[in-house]
Amino acid sequence: MASETKRKVVDCFGKEYSSLKAMCEAYHISYGTYCKRRYRGKTFEEALTVPVKKYSPSIIVSGYKFVLPCGLNAEVISVKGKSALIRAEDGKEWRSNKSNIIKGETGHPDLRRNRKSTFMGFETQFSASINNKAFYECRCLKCGAYEVFTPQQMIEHAREHNIQVTSQ
Ligand SMILES: [Zn+2]
Repeated sequence: MASETKRKVVDCFGKEYSSLKAMCEAYHISYGTYCKRRYRGKTFEEALTVPVKKYSPSIIVSGYKFVLPCGLNAEVISVKGKSALIRAEDGKEWRSNKSNIIKGETGHPDLRRNRKSTFMGFETQFSASINNKAFYECRCLKCGAYEVFTPQQMIEHAREHNIQVTSQ
């Protein structure tokens, strides 16, 4: 078993490295990935040897489901070359680059983090991300309610005002 406190490290097969970083390099695992895995409770060996998942944009086909950075569910409706038509659970549709979907960089056009927008009858402004959930400071244009909501809570509130949610 390796000692990770000393500067010199020994891997699970007894090979010695000058540093943790050098060992990670030898295993083609980034130092950041190694640290994240250890932090999440992976063993020394797992952290080093489990291959990093690499997704190719070819997995983006119609029917592919994923979660947007705002926390809303989304689905690929159709694909054309490098781009995909996406529909979020509020019914909004837009096109995005497939590789941006893979990288998790495709966001809902009305729920950006850096600008105010209108979503489901709310004036919204990104507030914070907690446990992978995005919260928005928002004011309902119908009843004036001022809340910090997730997009799902905004959709629920909009339903109470009979605002149409076009999908599902
Ligand atoms: Zn309202």
